[in-house]
Amino acid sequence: MMQDCIFCKIVKKEIPAEIVYEDEHVMAFKDIHPAAPVHLLLIPKKHIPTFFDLADEDVSIIGRVQLAAARVARQLDLEEKGFRLVSNCKEDAGQLVFHIHYHLLGGRALQWPPG
Ligand code: 5GP
Repeated sequence: MMQDCIFCKIVKKEIPAEIVYEDEHVMAFKDIHPAAPVHLLLIPKKHIPTFFDLADEDVSIIGRVQLAAARVARQLDLEEKGFRLVSNCKEDAGQLVFHIHYHLLGGRALQWPPG
Protein backbone atom coordinates (compact mmCIF):
# COMPACT_ATOMS: atom_id res chain seq x y z
CA MET A 1 0.00 0.00 0.00
CA MET A 2 1.19 3.49 -0.83
CA GLN A 3 0.36 6.25 1.60
CA ASP A 4 -0.33 8.95 -0.97
CA CYS A 5 -2.08 6.79 -3.57
CA ILE A 6 -5.76 7.67 -3.97
CA PHE A 7 -6.69 4.15 -5.11
CA CYS A 8 -4.87 2.57 -2.15
CA LYS A 9 -6.96 4.87 0.05
CA ILE A 10 -10.12 3.58 -1.63
CA VAL A 11 -8.92 -0.01 -1.05
CA LYS A 12 -8.39 0.79 2.63
CA LYS A 13 -11.82 2.56 2.73
CA GLU A 14 -10.12 5.73 3.92
CA ILE A 15 -11.96 7.68 1.25
CA PRO A 16 -15.40 6.79 -0.08
CA ALA A 17 -16.13 5.21 -3.44
CA GLU A 18 -19.12 3.48 -4.96
CA ILE A 19 -17.73 -0.04 -4.80
CA VAL A 20 -19.50 -2.51 -7.07
CA TYR A 21 -17.22 -5.53 -6.61
CA GLU A 22 -14.55 -6.60 -4.16
CA ASP A 23 -12.64 -9.75 -3.39
CA GLU A 24 -9.30 -10.57 -1.82
CA HIS A 25 -7.26 -9.21 -4.75
CA VAL A 26 -9.52 -6.96 -6.81
CA MET A 27 -11.79 -3.97 -6.38
CA ALA A 28 -14.19 -2.32 -8.84
CA PHE A 29 -15.77 1.06 -8.22
CA LYS A 30 -17.51 3.80 -10.18
CA ASP A 31 -15.32 6.42 -11.84
CA ILE A 32 -15.90 9.80 -10.23
CA HIS A 33 -16.14 11.44 -13.71
CA PRO A 34 -18.09 8.93 -15.80
CA ALA A 35 -17.47 9.02 -19.56
CA ALA A 36 -20.24 6.51 -20.36
CA PRO A 37 -23.45 5.25 -18.71
CA VAL A 38 -21.28 2.51 -17.16
CA HIS A 39 -17.78 3.65 -16.22
CA LEU A 40 -16.03 1.56 -13.61
CA LEU A 41 -12.42 1.32 -12.54
CA LEU A 42 -11.03 -2.15 -11.86
CA ILE A 43 -7.88 -2.32 -9.82
CA PRO A 44 -5.62 -4.86 -8.19
CA LYS A 45 -5.57 -4.16 -4.46
CA LYS A 46 -1.81 -4.43 -4.63
CA HIS A 47 -0.13 -1.11 -5.42
CA ILE A 48 1.50 -1.47 -8.85
CA PRO A 49 2.10 1.95 -10.46
CA THR A 50 2.21 0.98 -14.18
CA PHE A 51 2.47 -2.05 -16.45
CA PHE A 52 6.23 -1.50 -16.48
CA ASP A 53 6.26 -2.37 -12.78
CA LEU A 54 4.58 -5.76 -13.22
CA ALA A 55 6.51 -8.81 -12.08
CA ASP A 56 5.96 -12.44 -13.04
CA GLU A 57 4.26 -13.01 -9.70
CA ASP A 58 1.58 -10.43 -10.66
CA VAL A 59 0.27 -12.43 -13.62
CA SER A 60 -2.51 -14.04 -11.62
CA ILE A 61 -3.55 -10.71 -10.10
CA ILE A 62 -3.95 -9.11 -13.52
CA GLY A 63 -5.87 -12.17 -14.70
CA ARG A 64 -8.17 -11.81 -11.70
CA VAL A 65 -8.82 -8.17 -12.56
CA GLN A 66 -9.89 -9.15 -16.07
CA LEU A 67 -12.09 -11.98 -14.82
CA ALA A 68 -13.72 -9.54 -12.41
CA ALA A 69 -14.38 -7.19 -15.34
CA ALA A 70 -16.40 -9.86 -17.12
CA ARG A 71 -18.22 -10.79 -13.92
CA VAL A 72 -19.20 -7.21 -13.14
CA ALA A 73 -20.15 -6.50 -16.77
CA ARG A 74 -22.44 -9.52 -16.73
CA GLN A 75 -24.07 -8.30 -13.51
CA LEU A 76 -24.68 -4.94 -15.17
CA ASP A 77 -26.37 -6.58 -18.19
CA LEU A 78 -23.57 -5.73 -20.60
CA GLU A 79 -23.13 -9.26 -21.89
CA GLU A 80 -25.27 -8.79 -25.01
CA LYS A 81 -23.86 -5.44 -26.18
CA GLY A 82 -20.41 -5.72 -24.62
CA PHE A 83 -18.03 -3.24 -23.10
CA ARG A 84 -14.56 -1.71 -23.47
CA LEU A 85 -11.71 -2.43 -21.08
CA VAL A 86 -8.83 0.06 -21.43
CA SER A 87 -5.82 1.02 -19.40
CA ASN A 88 -3.73 4.16 -19.78
CA CYS A 89 -0.02 3.67 -19.22
CA LYS A 90 2.03 6.79 -18.44
CA GLU A 91 2.06 10.28 -19.88
CA ASP A 92 1.18 9.89 -23.55
CA ALA A 93 -1.80 7.71 -22.71
CA GLY A 94 -3.04 10.20 -20.11
CA GLN A 95 -2.49 8.14 -16.98
CA LEU A 96 -3.37 10.33 -14.00
CA VAL A 97 -3.46 7.81 -11.18
CA PHE A 98 -0.31 5.71 -10.84
CA HIS A 99 -1.94 2.54 -9.53
CA ILE A 100 -2.75 0.16 -12.40
CA HIS A 101 -6.41 0.34 -13.32
CA TYR A 102 -8.66 -0.69 -16.17
CA HIS A 103 -11.54 1.52 -17.25
CA LEU A 104 -14.65 -0.56 -17.96
CA LEU A 105 -16.88 1.48 -20.26
CA GLY A 106 -20.27 0.46 -21.55
CA GLY A 107 -23.93 1.26 -21.88
CA ARG A 108 -23.52 3.13 -25.19
CA ALA A 109 -21.82 2.64 -28.57
CA LEU A 110 -18.20 3.77 -28.16
CA GLN A 111 -16.01 5.44 -30.80
CA TRP A 112 -12.83 3.84 -32.11
CA PRO A 113 -10.00 4.73 -32.22
CA PRO A 114 -9.86 6.75 -28.99
CA GLY A 115 -8.22 10.19 -29.28
P1 5GP B 1 -6.37 7.56 -15.78
O1 5GP B 1 -6.34 8.87 -16.51
O2 5GP B 1 -5.27 7.46 -14.76
O3 5GP B 1 -6.44 6.39 -16.70
O4 5GP B 1 -7.76 7.54 -15.03
C1 5GP B 1 -7.93 7.87 -13.70
C2 5GP B 1 -9.43 7.87 -13.45
O5 5GP B 1 -9.64 7.91 -12.05
C3 5GP B 1 -10.15 9.08 -14.04
O6 5GP B 1 -11.15 8.63 -14.96
C4 5GP B 1 -10.76 9.78 -12.84
O7 5GP B 1 -12.04 10.30 -13.08
C5 5GP B 1 -10.78 8.69 -11.78
N1 5GP B 1 -10.61 9.17 -10.42
C6 5GP B 1 -9.65 10.02 -9.97
N2 5GP B 1 -9.77 10.21 -8.64
C7 5GP B 1 -10.83 9.45 -8.25
C8 5GP B 1 -11.45 9.24 -6.99
O8 5GP B 1 -11.06 9.77 -5.96
N3 5GP B 1 -12.51 8.40 -6.96
C9 5GP B 1 -12.98 7.79 -8.08
N4 5GP B 1 -14.05 7.00 -7.94
N5 5GP B 1 -12.41 7.96 -9.30
C10 5GP B 1 -11.36 8.79 -9.38
